[in-house]
Amino acid sequence: MELGVNIWSFIDRILCWRQPCACCGAPGRALLCPGCLADLPRLDNPCRRCAEPLPAGATPLCPRCLGPRPPAFARVHALFAYAPPVDRLITGLKYHGRWEAARLLGSLLGEALAGADPLPDILVPVPLHPRRLRRRGYNQALELARHAAARAGLPLEAGRCRRVRHGPPQAGQDAAARRRAVRDAFAVDGRVDGLHVGLVDDVVTTAATVNELARVLRRAGAREVSVWCAARAGRTSGT
Ligand SMILES: [Zn+2]
Ligand SMILES: [Zn+2]
Repeated sequence: MELGVNIWSFIDRILCWRQPCACCGAPGRALLCPGCLADLPRLDNPCRRCAEPLPAGATPLCPRCLGPRPPAFARVHALFAYAPPVDRLITGLKYHGRWEAARLLGSLLGEALAGADPLPDILVPVPLHPRRLRRRGYNQALELARHAAARAGLPLEAGRCRRVRHGPPQAGQDAAARRRAVRDAFAVDGRVDGLHVGLVDDVVTTAATVNELARVLRRAGAREVSVWCAARAGRTSGT
């Protein structure tokens, strides 16, 4: 077992040997050099619950989270704003199989998770519908969650949630259309009674998908659902 882990970390080191920084091209061994890593776009003034970027000086919660039907999740934790170069890293992972982006962003998510209080009991990636999974060949949320779970030492339950209804791609849709598209789109296998479930996704935009997943997970007994994403987009960014 130990030997296997060592072999993988060895292969991992070889694969990223002398890889230029994806942002500025500086030679190095990581996807991003330390300078570019420090310059990644932070979220300005996020809503304390759903992490939607709010205007400066706004209340800590957005109008939707303050309203009569707040989200089913406890909180969205986002590493970065969905802006260059994080958007390019994520589209590279999502559409071009850039595994080094999954390693970088997933490991950073794992570090954030390791310091979380309360810590989730299990991690669950946002599932793709089997048809989309066949077309893409992998689920980018699962690739992030693998690294995050390994780094944070948390159990990964990749098959716990399934997408049972196929919806059109959400890019460019408004919030109401996204909510309709994900209604009853997910199923939970078995019960998650009393568990704090950490949902992992690449980008959260309107939070319609993670809100619907949180709803079905809580119906299946989850005590709490928190969301862990690499990037948070604003509602108008059309991702
Ligand atoms: Zn750089
Ligand atoms: Zn909010």
